[in-house]
Amino acid sequence: MSKGKRIVILGAGFGGLACANLLRESLSSEHQITVFDKKDYFLMGFVNLWILNGKRTFEGSKTPLSNLKSKGISFLQDEIISINPAEKVITTVRQNHEYDYLVIALGTEYAPEKINGFVENGGFNLYDVEHIPQLRKGILAMEQGRIAICITSYPYKCPPAPYEASLLISDILVKNGTRNNIGIDVYCPASISLPVAGPKVSQDVINLLDKKHISFHPSHKLKTVADRNSLEFECAGNGKEFVDYSLLIGIPPHVSPLVAKRSGFIKDGQNWINADRFTLRTEHENVFAIGDITEIKVNQAVSIPKAGIFAEGQAKVVSQQIIGQIKDKACNSKFDGKGFCFMETGESKAGYIDTNFYDEEGPITSLYPPSEESYRKKIDFEKTRLKDWLLPLP
Ligand SMILES: Cc1cc2nc3c(=O)[nH]c(=O)nc-3n(C[C@H](O)[C@H](O)[C@H](O)COP(=O)(O)OP(=O)(O)OC[C@H]3O[C@@H](n4cnc5c(N)ncnc54)[C@H](O)[C@@H]3O)c2cc1C
Repeated sequence: MSKGKRIVILGAGFGGLACANLLRESLSSEHQITVFDKKDYFLMGFVNLWILNGKRTFEGSKTPLSNLKSKGISFLQDEIISINPAEKVITTVRQNHEYDYLVIALGTEYAPEKINGFVENGGFNLYDVEHIPQLRKGILAMEQGRIAICITSYPYKCPPAPYEASLLISDILVKNGTRNNIGIDVYCPASISLPVAGPKVSQDVINLLDKKHISFHPSHKLKTVADRNSLEFECAGNGKEFVDYSLLIGIPPHVSPLVAKRSGFIKDGQNWINADRFTLRTEHENVFAIGDITEIKVNQAVSIPKAGIFAEGQAKVVSQQIIGQIKDKACNSKFDGKGFCFMETGESKAGYIDTNFYDEEGPITSLYPPSEESYRKKIDFEKTRLKDWLLPLP
């Protein structure tokens, strides 16, 4: 058995934390596991929605990444600026680090500046947790008008999240006594609400919006935020449309972290790292890529969605391969394309979405009706992961 390997994990998000902990559980302390992140805390994406509806606060929802130390995992807060797979070295703002195995789990970045006028005219980014407390204040302060929620492009993380946000915002307004005076409109460039899930589930989602009188506008691509009151959309086959709004919430274009492109992991004509659909290996020896930074094509039209549950599933497969290699044992672990999530619908209920992207007959997604049980499972989903990944052992 080979001794003392250096395993470096870039990114302490969903995929990176799952991978680091799974490795630590199976590898003895002679093997170093080091996680890098520019942030010093972890916060699960869907907690944005709980901060939005007042169930949580931003500060109260952060878990320090320094807790990794109590799990026997090193954490370095630093920004990765380049990866050199030929030399097996990564470079951060502070120094170089050598590795034997590398897992790239750097997620996505947002590019709201790609939408003319979005930033200048005060659009809120639903996916940036730092925007959420101010967004909540804005919603509570409104007495009348229209809230526009715009999906600006694909792919974006957790496809149901903008629809969940619209349902929760409706509840906030009802509680605030302003719902009757405020319209909620959701716009998306596609002809159905969830292209990745297909027409049936897309219609199920629209039915949920209808029940709360939320208007859905398919085939609307946000072109320009002309001023603080006017949006310009490009509508498929129908030219331009101008719409008034009072408060703008965007799901901005997603782009891969610059370091991946700069280091040659993203080729011309690609937007994300292409990793093997079963093993998550890149073309470089002992370098894996998992989670949102990857594009894993299922067929011509569909790729694995950007969601934590897939990053976690891929982390399992990658950790098993690294453990197998280090312990010199055969490993047949393969990513199975399966995942699930809980789509919150308000009033402490959530629908359950179940998916299998690698089914032989083609991708399958089902949405089960909202229940209090699924909502409780969503709360548990966060709790168990925080405990497994970041809370000190009792
Ligand atoms: C509102 C919302 C709701 C969501 N709901 C769900 C849900 O219900 N279920 C679900 O499965 N998923 C959900 N998601 C999606 C989920 O959060 C992401 O898909 C998941 O976090 C992806 O994991 P990852 O490890 O690929 O990337 P991330 O978790 O984004 O982690 C990437 C990490 O890399 C770090 N990083 C990036 N660049 C650098 C650099 N150059 N140097 C150092 N560090 C860097 C970042 O700081 C970050 O911590 C939701 C997301 C949002 C925004």
